[in-house]
Amino acid sequence: MTIAMHGVGVSRGIAIGKAHIIEQEQLDIPEYNIKPAQIDAEIRRLHEAVTSAKQQLRAIRDHIPPTTSVDIASFIDTHLLMLEDAVLIQEPIRLVRESFYNAEWALKLQCDALVNVFEEMDDAYLRTRRDDIEHVINRIQRVLLKHTLLPHESPDSSLQGYITLANDLTPADTVLMQHQGIAAFATELGGPTSHTAILARSLGIPAIIGLHQARRYIKEDDLVILDGIRGVILVDPDERSLAHYRKLQEQDRKYYSGLITLRDTPTRTKDDTLVELYANIELPKDFETVRAVGACGVGLYRTEFLYMNRESPPDEEEHFKTYMEVLNILNGLPLTIRTLDLGADKQVDGGRQKGPVQSNPALGLRAIRLCLKEPALFYPQLKAILRASAFGAVRLMIPMLSNTEEIDQVQQIIEEIKTDLDAKNIAYDHDLPVGCMIEVPAAAICADIFAQRLDFLSIGTNDLIQYTIAIDRVNDEMNYLYDPLHPAVLRLINTTLQAGRQANIPVAMCGEMAGDIRNARLLLGLGLREFSIHPANLLEVKKIILESDISKLDDFAQQALFAKSGTEIATLIDEMNRTLH
Ligand code: PEP
Ligand code: MG
Repeated sequence: MTIAMHGVGVSRGIAIGKAHIIEQEQLDIPEYNIKPAQIDAEIRRLHEAVTSAKQQLRAIRDHIPPTTSVDIASFIDTHLLMLEDAVLIQEPIRLVRESFYNAEWALKLQCDALVNVFEEMDDAYLRTRRDDIEHVINRIQRVLLKHTLLPHESPDSSLQGYITLANDLTPADTVLMQHQGIAAFATELGGPTSHTAILARSLGIPAIIGLHQARRYIKEDDLVILDGIRGVILVDPDERSLAHYRKLQEQDRKYYSGLITLRDTPTRTKDDTLVELYANIELPKDFETVRAVGACGVGLYRTEFLYMNRESPPDEEEHFKTYMEVLNILNGLPLTIRTLDLGADKQVDGGRQKGPVQSNPALGLRAIRLCLKEPALFYPQLKAILRASAFGAVRLMIPMLSNTEEIDQVQQIIEEIKTDLDAKNIAYDHDLPVGCMIEVPAAAICADIFAQRLDFLSIGTNDLIQYTIAIDRVNDEMNYLYDPLHPAVLRLINTTLQAGRQANIPVAMCGEMAGDIRNARLLLGLGLREFSIHPANLLEVKKIILESDISKLDDFAQQALFAKSGTEIATLIDEMNRTLH
């Protein structure tokens, strides 16, 4: 019998394939004592487990496609080095020999002791070594307990074409899984603007989140249809459903390939207002798509993905090399580099650290706050951006600013770097535009003050909505409150746009709201003229803009600003979209 399950479609496309269930259970480590006569055999078991763990890692490393953009190989090499270090199991061997512990438990005690040492360290990157210890010891324990590889680590392409289902996936998992050619994925948890969802869109993988209890009703190898537009999964579909969805797949394919004809058409409304469409990019390899969809440049380059799934942060040279490669691909198109926005759901290791965690990570040490606290992270990136600015149209964008003191600090650091570059005769753009994201209500309310100090603003609605309505963007229980059309959100957007006009500086929108075709006319009516969107959605938004007449949108936008609820605004938008195209 066919079962239909509903979640939130976050990355469009239809996939038909077999299900693969990802279990991410915590290991249950048994604790028992062995007999003295078993000591040698237990130590042998430990050595053999280490050898198998090494073999697993080598196999994974050997199967990483050369095109993978994230430096997974060096991440794996670090773990291999740790496994090759005899010191790692010296203490567990002693515990087996002298305290008669089983190998798994002896490893656990060793892990706890090492983790404590790392926990004491102040340096954020040294602290991440703690996670490496845990990963490595966990791998040996999995072998001892005869657990298989974590699915996304599988070195082969056995998941090719599968639709994977997980309780949750981190952005780092998603990057790792991508190279296996999965057809689509669904998670039980997550929000529509979680970075996992955003990444799915940029990787072009159909995806659904918030599919509660999916793993209860879907079994390994069940045939499923995943519809990432409507947020539906059909389990064990009958022939009629299969035929229907195959037809939809074909229609979608034709519709999207038809949009490509708009690529070179200038984005002008019917009444001849020029609108600029920029692309949001996460991974360096995706820069090719900027030209493919005819974007006028990159409005948001999320550089934090350069830091994920690797051992140490990129140094100045690596940043510089990456930006130079990107500028080369862009061939003169502007590039807005957003400085590191790690924290909240974006952690270098996928967010699975143990130990003390901030109780409200989204409200904590994130983005510019983390960068100002850890200059060792910030300086190399800023310096590389400045150096790269000599070779192309670079703009520097700071995430999550909430007060002018932070602007002072950033500008002071930039000045210091400029003085250093001058002293060394290194070229950079002396007029490098510096702007910020408006993603905290405090920044939106004070946008006029910010606009006096900066060269451009960009509204990050993903966070602005999260912080304005006080809903965690990755918490699926809160999805029902996530409303880009909440009157408070609209007013903050309007305030920011007005501030930009008054100060005569450009204001873009780079949150997901800008890529939703339903909102395009409302945003035009409010005065937005720069959209920064996922390349996958860009041409669809362009089509709406080409069919719009701004002179007819102002009244609707004003009415929306006076509406009392998101529902009222949504009704107005539907009317506007129905009548005005
Ligand atoms: C935003 O918050 O809208 C944004 C574009 O930044 P990110 O999604 O990376 O937090
Ligand atoms: Mg943000």
